[in-house]
Amino acid sequence: MNGETVMDRCTICGEREPIYTRAYSGESLCRRCFVRSIMRKVRATISKYGMFKHDDRIAVAVSGGKDSTALLHVMAEIERRFPKSTLVAVTVDEGIKGYRDEALSIALENSKLLGVEHITVSFKELYGYTLDEIVEMSSGTQLTPCAICGVLRRRALNVAARIAKAEKIATAHNLDDEVQTVILNIMHGDPFRIARVKPVLEPATAGFVRRVKPFCEVPEREVALYAYIKGIKFQDLPCPYAETALRNEIRNMLNRLEERHPGIKYAIFRSAERMRPYLEKALSELKMRRCVICGEPSVGEICQPCQILRDLKILE
Ligand code: SF4
Ligand code: ZN
Ligand code: ZN
Repeated sequence: MNGETVMDRCTICGEREPIYTRAYSGESLCRRCFVRSIMRKVRATISKYGMFKHDDRIAVAVSGGKDSTALLHVMAEIERRFPKSTLVAVTVDEGIKGYRDEALSIALENSKLLGVEHITVSFKELYGYTLDEIVEMSSGTQLTPCAICGVLRRRALNVAARIAKAEKIATAHNLDDEVQTVILNIMHGDPFRIARVKPVLEPATAGFVRRVKPFCEVPEREVALYAYIKGIKFQDLPCPYAETALRNEIRNMLNRLEERHPGIKYAIFRSAERMRPYLEKALSELKMRRCVICGEPSVGEICQPCQILRDLKILE
């Protein structure tokens, strides 16, 4: 067998020059076949987990970063085949000076380009304060900016989806995000939270919209390459509050492992999938409740982050 001809031609079409080698599958792909493979993978994920119905109105959470902007482009292409389904891009403006403004205009620009309606909701409108102000108010408490932001943004997204009359919220969590969260939960001594790392998250309380993650089986590198090949404009600045210390170390560790043992991220993802039913069962036996405010698992009626937000008088 002539190894050379195989090596310098795309594994799928056998015609064009490969630009990317997918170590975990052994494929070498040309630009066109790579882009198609991403679309195929996302479609397969959507259908495997039954993420959408043909006539859904789908809110895509677009922060303006690489992953969410790429997701909006992918969803716009998928949605073209479903004339009864509609998309709406929703952006949460947390109120982070010098960071969110640029991201907002990029989200808006991409939505316009794709002809997708765009809605913005802000912390200021919803809660009366920007995240910058809330972070100041919370000094002296144990709450970190990301913990506050996470709870408030989840709610804000939900409000935005309701304003948009959407049945689903699609978020851009990719394979790496999901696998990092699994490991983080173990490292935080909170294994039951793995049950919540899920491609389709059913609303825990009434009034919450179903959240789905169409990119959950696409590695971060491939989302980035897709965005680059498609010439998608996105914001590259990190959030000034980003608490990435442990997550970053986990990311680097997983990337090193993946290089030496291709497919390890998928293996962790699948392990979490296999563990989930048992964790869910154990959780229900533990009689964990759902926080009445945010819907997250909680020992008490109200979870700790929501309680602290109440103390800060941000939530009622
Ligand atoms: Fe919010 Fe933290 Fe993300 Fe910044 S990094 S947008 S504070 S969750
Ligand atoms: Zn090809
Ligand atoms: Zn809560």
